Amino acid sequence: MTHPTTVPARLPGEWRIPYQYTIGTFASAFFDALREQRILGCRCGQCGRVAVPPKSFCEFCFIPVEELVEVGKEGVIEAVTVVTAPFAGSPPVPYAVAYVRPDGATSAICNYLQGVDLDLEDGLNEALRIEARVKMVFRDDPEGRVTDFWFEPLSPAQ
Ligand SMILES: [Zn+2]
Repeated sequence: MTHPTTVPARLPGEWRIPYQYTIGTFASAFFDALREQRILGCRCGQCGRVAVPPKSFCEFCFIPVEELVEVGKEGVIEAVTVVTAPFAGSPPVPYAVAYVRPDGATSAICNYLQGVDLDLEDGLNEALRIEARVKMVFRDDPEGRVTDFWFEPLSPAQ
């Protein structure tokens, strides 16, 4: 009688599946606005929260949202991490990724944080602290993609 091994084997594999999917009208408006170097959110008619990026429903009230609003091009860091280990497709390390709450919004949006000294030998840079103010910087030729902008500290990097 043959018994299975106690540790299943692993076979190498790779899936490469190009595809397109429908992103809906609110996300479409968000990406269209990026081409104009603007950041759009949506305001809930019941609770007044402004979500960025915009969604077609309020995740607190569970009701449809109809109003798109432009939010500020500055904001505060709500969360940040420094990536020091590369992985397939990653930018050169180290790099920082931050969730930033734009002025006028009640939620945060994620993107790269650039212009910060990421040498962690002396501890975290002050520009990486929670509530540090940042600005959204747009590329000169936006394409309607999230890579059209990134965050940079408002105060000079230390
Ligand atoms: Zn709401």
